[in-house]
Amino acid sequence: MTKGWQKSDWRAKPRVQMPDYMDSAALNAVEAQLAKYPPLVFAGEARRLKKQLALASEGKAFLLQGGDCAESFAEFSADNIRDTFRVMLQMAIVLTYGAKVPVIKVGRMAGQFAKPRSAPTEMIGGVEYPSYRGDIINGFDATPEARQPDPSRMLQAYTQAAASLNLLRAFSTGGFADIHRVHSWTLGFAEHDKAERYRELSNRISDALDFMNAAGVNSDTAHMLTTVDFYTSHEALLLEYEEALCRVDSISGQNVAGSGHMIWIGDRTRQPDGAHVEFCRGVLNPIGLKCGPTTTAEDLKVLMAKLNPQNEAGRLTLIARFGAGKVAEHLPRLIKAVKEEGAAVVWSCDPMHGNTVKSPSGYKTRPFNAVLSEVREFFAVHKSEGTIPGGVHFEMTGKDVTECTGGLRAVTDEDLSDRYHTACDPRLNASQSLELAFLVAEELLA
Ligand code: PEP
Ligand code: MN
Repeated sequence: MTKGWQKSDWRAKPRVQMPDYMDSAALNAVEAQLAKYPPLVFAGEARRLKKQLALASEGKAFLLQGGDCAESFAEFSADNIRDTFRVMLQMAIVLTYGAKVPVIKVGRMAGQFAKPRSAPTEMIGGVEYPSYRGDIINGFDATPEARQPDPSRMLQAYTQAAASLNLLRAFSTGGFADIHRVHSWTLGFAEHDKAERYRELSNRISDALDFMNAAGVNSDTAHMLTTVDFYTSHEALLLEYEEALCRVDSISGQNVAGSGHMIWIGDRTRQPDGAHVEFCRGVLNPIGLKCGPTTTAEDLKVLMAKLNPQNEAGRLTLIARFGAGKVAEHLPRLIKAVKEEGAAVVWSCDPMHGNTVKSPSGYKTRPFNAVLSEVREFFAVHKSEGTIPGGVHFEMTGKDVTECTGGLRAVTDEDLSDRYHTACDPRLNASQSLELAFLVAEELLA
């Protein structure tokens, strides 16, 4: 329990990456409305996720976190949710086989709407506009009106998050997630001519399932083969929204962010004395903290003390995002800081945000091989430091988009324009995501 903490305390701290709403009456009305709405998640669920993450910190579970860079109002559909959920379940089975421990599935879903930006304005067609900050804040269209921050967007984001979570909960327990069904889709992927490398591993998983079936452990007898735990997460960036959905847990009396099971602090908003750290430190949810090339050992120590003063395992996940070729330069100093503090953390690898490049065709993209390299470097450093690589964090979608280059169905620079649908950063498509899961499983088995 963070004594004396109030959910509005962040307001007295330096405010970065958040919009200045012009119409404060409209803003207050939206906040009051959200404060009356039910929370999207319940404290007991956040606590259960924290327990599972505690296992990941000891190597007894593995975290798979993934989803859109930015969810959007326009792309919202049952099909999109289903497809991302499906590919995450496929990845989870492959990773479970590789890691030989349960995989904790956390979507960047049902709340991942607000985006930090590197500049307050952007040039589009030779004209300067306020930057797009995610659909919960302003519109993507390049017009001055759309780019105006509009507090009523928070209500639409809440509604979309609630509907998304409802569908995810239904998929998790309603039969969709049956392990045999999910694995049959993976067999389809492994039949692809160029997927030969992955066929053996997927056949080994089939054998394991056949064996369990023969031993009487199957979908008719074992509930855990037909249902999954699936959690939601997002960057806690728009603190007006977070505060309005913050609730007191009736069991523990602690505050809980009701906007999602896990929330994280981005690389641009992790100032130890800033508003975002102030908000996150007071809620009981598992917290992610992005760690980039500019994260110093001193900052990390201060942040760990603020965000996890009791050193509770599962509370803090450090999400390393340095870029391929840079992990060995940066990760060891942070591992050393964690060791010096005796801190219990989950180490997760985000191989996306340090590997964004501009393609010759002008699109923001990420080469599959750079993403894979960063994951391998992350595993290698943990191996040499004797620490535990506890998870991975991807920007991905279940759709067949062309946003990241490479992969076995090689997306080229020229292909990027075909199906480039992201509202923000480039995502791995379904095939690239599953391929990456196979390659991570190979690392885990090595
Ligand atoms: C993100 O996860 O979409 C993001 C903006 O990441 P980072 O804060 O690590 O740059
Ligand atoms: Mn992103």
